Amino acid sequence: MSAHQDMFDAAREAVAIAALVTRHVQQRLESYRSMLKPDDSPVSVADFAAQAVIAHELHHRLGPIAMVGEESAAELQAMLRAGDSEVPNQVLAAVRTVWPEATIDTMLEAIDIGADEPPADGAPFWTLDPIDGTKGFLRGQQYAISLAWIDKGTVRVGALGCPNLPFDQAIPLDTPENAGSLYLAMTDAPVLESECVQDATLRELQRVTHDAGRGICTTASVEKAHSNQGTAAQVRQWLAGHAPDGHGGVREPVRLDSQAKYAVVARGQADAYLRFPVKRGYEEKIWDHAAGAIVAEQAGVRVTDVLGETLDFAQGSTLARNKGIVCAPPQVHDRLMEAIDALRAERQVVGLS
Ligand code: AMP
Ligand code: MG
Repeated sequence: MSAHQDMFDAAREAVAIAALVTRHVQQRLESYRSMLKPDDSPVSVADFAAQAVIAHELHHRLGPIAMVGEESAAELQAMLRAGDSEVPNQVLAAVRTVWPEATIDTMLEAIDIGADEPPADGAPFWTLDPIDGTKGFLRGQQYAISLAWIDKGTVRVGALGCPNLPFDQAIPLDTPENAGSLYLAMTDAPVLESECVQDATLRELQRVTHDAGRGICTTASVEKAHSNQGTAAQVRQWLAGHAPDGHGGVREPVRLDSQAKYAVVARGQADAYLRFPVKRGYEEKIWDHAAGAIVAEQAGVRVTDVLGETLDFAQGSTLARNKGIVCAPPQVHDRLMEAIDALRAERQVVGLS
């Protein structure tokens, strides 16, 4: 048994329970509210509800934990102070679908389990994005429930729930009402996968291997503000112009929201996940990458930033020493780095320096 089995089992269960809540809300979006945070990013009732049930489940199974979650109870508390209880009550209604005894107070307390900062002494902590890709979630498309356990700056356990990502790769991506996919990884074990429902049968990841003749299929954000599509297009163009004999060049990129992109590459459905910075100085959040990165790495996929550097999860709540993401199996990663290095040398692109 792995040293991290308890964390692994707790993460698996917590994410599967949260998927019940997020599905419940996504199927009734017209009756649930979403709102904008001070930085204009959207947050829905489901973001708060999923953080509450995951923190509650981990605490119940493991005792006191440190957790760096994307959400905190502050906005909900401010609404209650202002006499507006509509959204807090909606969050509670969503939480009660899986945690019937929850009250406003126990729910807010659970959300704030995830309001910690990463411990400065390298002590272990959880990081959670309860709904990564909220814009995809609100469009009825892809999103991920992303939970990881980090010890001394290394991601040791990751649970990546993709409730809208068909488990069967033959089914088109945005098919509604499918059972979704759940990917589970630990540093010392093969990746396991199942449908994204409670008590689903786990199996070892069945990875489709890259066929060079088919051409490279990259994947990237739907949102233009999250990843530089121009730079990605330049990289694809370079690859197409420098394809070795017998290689099929490049294919049309697949766009989807959230860390489901890491899962899609880990299972071989796409050949690379590219994330080039749009804004100079943007620091990627740890909860946007921790679970996805360990799933991909344990599946034999290489995950670096756009300069080829390893992701450094020891810098607090952001990947302050990294820029963007290049995630691909080793032979494709080599070609991508060759393209990026060539474009940097030609000084043709922004966002790669
Ligand atoms: P994706 O679904 O891959 O487009 O990524 C969604 C994530 O992008 C959100 O969870 C945000 O944390 C993150 N995000 C927001 N603004 C930016 C930005 N300017 N650059 C990169 N990522 C961003
Ligand atoms: Mg996110």
